[in-house]
Amino acid sequence: MDLARDLVAAGYPAVKVSIGRGDLEDELATVQAISDAVRGEARLLVDAHGAYNADSVRYVARRLQDMSVDWFEDPLPPGDLDGCSRLAAAFDLAIAGGETDCTRWQFAKRLSAGAADVVLPDVCRAGGISEGLHNVRWATRVSMGSSVHIAAAAHLAAASSNFLAFEWPSTPNPLGDPLLTVPLHPVGGILTVPDGPGLGIAFDEEVLRAHLDPEDAVRIGAS
Ligand SMILES: [Mg+2]
Repeated sequence: MDLARDLVAAGYPAVKVSIGRGDLEDELATVQAISDAVRGEARLLVDAHGAYNADSVRYVARRLQDMSVDWFEDPLPPGDLDGCSRLAAAFDLAIAGGETDCTRWQFAKRLSAGAADVVLPDVCRAGGISEGLHNVRWATRVSMGSSVHIAAAAHLAAASSNFLAFEWPSTPNPLGDPLLTVPLHPVGGILTVPDGPGLGIAFDEEVLRAHLDPEDAVRIGAS
């Protein structure tokens, strides 16, 4: 709750809450409390990581809809397109999905089934940087991705229409900022796209070397 308030105060326009791993009523109470805390100031997104089944998901969707949650992400396992389609049709709650989809055909299948209102392409998994883009709202999926992943997603977001939000973990990411000579990090809730050559990022080679196995580091240093 305090973290959600802090993020909104820092300028983040949306807060995403994870559920599906603990006691359901406790988790829903947490979502309600965060909803009450950020309502009118930030959007509230909920990610269930595919935790529910056909029975339990309807109850959760109803509760989240009552809390004015903006999107319900991965309510069912990623392959359950029929289930997501039924959910999307039954509730006035945006269904978000597609973070595990690979290639434009999987995204097209998800969308033609009506299984997602918002797609979440992961540029390192989608089979190509723009494979997940269609004429629907989309948000980046980067989670704890590397700074290369984040930079590539930022360029895609800046270059495309229908872009909704850039995912940013609230926990420190050792493969993100710390690897770079110039940090790539949101300020006031805004991520500035790096404008140098290529993806616009440069590595701190000493820090990068520290992530490698010592024998690999010696080989790279000698090459
Ligand atoms: Mg997710």
